[in-house]
Amino acid sequence: MAALGEMWKGGGRGYKSIVFVTLGTGVGSGVIINRQMVYGAKGLAGEIGHIMINPNETERCNCGGMGCLDQMASARGIVRCAKKFLEEDFRPSLLRDMGELTARKILDAAKRGDETASRTVSHCMFYLGKCLAEVSYIVDPRPL
Ligand SMILES: [Zn+2]
Repeated sequence: MAALGEMWKGGGRGYKSIVFVTLGTGVGSGVIINRQMVYGAKGLAGEIGHIMINPNETERCNCGGMGCLDQMASARGIVRCAKKFLEEDFRPSLLRDMGELTARKILDAAKRGDETASRTVSHCMFYLGKCLAEVSYIVDPRPL
């Protein structure tokens, strides 16, 4: 529904085919091709959050896979990556004194120049950019 709304009144206005992506607790997405929502046989078409994007991932995603975009670029994924980097690296970081980490706190710390937060954001957004670039070749969004 959000993808349809975005095509109707949002950033997808004027396009026949779009990929809608929302970054929240998870990575949500929807694909519209030639003004038709794409569902697939089981309703899983366009679920880009579970495309395997990091072959080096060792933890399981909630879908059962490993290395999913959701593990890297969702709010939950950003927090997970930051915690992993904090465990691996003992340098001082603003993140160590923030209590329960959230993606917002990590992004704010990155804006303030915190190295671990910046490393986390760069790492996670690398995978988001990689995935979106690959998806763009599948859908090739185009104006009307
Ligand atoms: Zn997954």
